Amino acid sequence: MNEICTSCFENHGIKETALRVINKQADQVVCKSCLKNGYALSSEELLIIMNQFFVMGSIPPEVAGPAPIFQFNEYKYPGDVQFLTELDADLKKITDATRVGLFHYGPPLWRLGYTNHYQLLVFDNVQGKDRDNIWQAIISSCTEEILNVGYCIYRVRTGENLPPANSSEFDTPPQEYTKNGRFNSESTQIFYGASDIETCLHETRASLSDYIMLAKFSVEKPLKVLNLSRTNESKASTEFDRVDLMLQRLSYVGKDEYSLCQELSREIKLRGYDGFITNSYFGQAHKKELLNISLFGYPVAEKKLKITSTNKLQITSIAYEYSYGPVNDNHVLDKSKLKLLGEKMSDIVLDSEASFDDVNKLMDELKSLVSCRSNKPI
Ligand SMILES: [Zn+2]
Repeated sequence: MNEICTSCFENHGIKETALRVINKQADQVVCKSCLKNGYALSSEELLIIMNQFFVMGSIPPEVAGPAPIFQFNEYKYPGDVQFLTELDADLKKITDATRVGLFHYGPPLWRLGYTNHYQLLVFDNVQGKDRDNIWQAIISSCTEEILNVGYCIYRVRTGENLPPANSSEFDTPPQEYTKNGRFNSESTQIFYGASDIETCLHETRASLSDYIMLAKFSVEKPLKVLNLSRTNESKASTEFDRVDLMLQRLSYVGKDEYSLCQELSREIKLRGYDGFITNSYFGQAHKKELLNISLFGYPVAEKKLKITSTNKLQITSIAYEYSYGPVNDNHVLDKSKLKLLGEKMSDIVLDSEASFDDVNKLMDELKSLVSCRSNKPI
């Protein structure tokens, strides 16, 4: 294997990924390949970089599962992916050293939450008793919990000014002021809260320009809630039967799934629950498990919750952590334009009157066609 070090790479993200992977206890060496100082990379480390950067780094946002666009293995060497950027030379260095090839990968659909239940509810759109039975199967796989008297729930409101510190200001907003959200709809009003303050701040997308007000509530009578983040998968004989993957999809995917989420919350309400617990969308990028507590109706007015304290909040720190992935220019050669240019060129060869300028013009057109960059994402 050719020597490869952390300085051999051109692409910033790969270099940084490599620096996170290597053991920095070893000393930097002068690399025989790039002649710079760097940390030597073993083939195990190069495979970790392949996985972190090209595989995990290619997972699109809001797909609700580990569904990468690229994968690699030894059978696909030298690979069929080209980025048409500085990445190609870096990729070649790694694949030549490790004898693996990167290829376009179609992940199994269950990884995206397209399970059997999802198939029946959305693609087959089954109706009537069959639909009720599917919802029943999903709901009965989730865990029923009781929030006892005294249990603490937080809720945050943001705005251009502070609302008065009275309890009605922190109940579910009146219907005329609410837009349909992930779980609430015209027929189902929802009080969105959480058992920790940070989840509330994430969920309200609180920013530095907002006035932020926190209300602390205490549960006044035992509340029966369904915990959608705790499911029993013992009945699932294959990945396609798993309920957690579909529910994860509903928590993490964007607006496309709101109508199914709203239907789920109506079905839970129909079965007599006071509310439900779900994974927060922001839990996808958080070290702690973030859970939302959603209660039906107007729990403050209905005396299920009592406000015990209100505060103004100031955000004092925001930090992001990130990992790197590939982008390409996804260049697709316009074959019809190329054919047209080819015809013009053969005409010019036969044309005794053609000038150097005409030939140069055509050559410029060819250059711009070949180097044209597309905005189409991978
Ligand atoms: Zn090097």
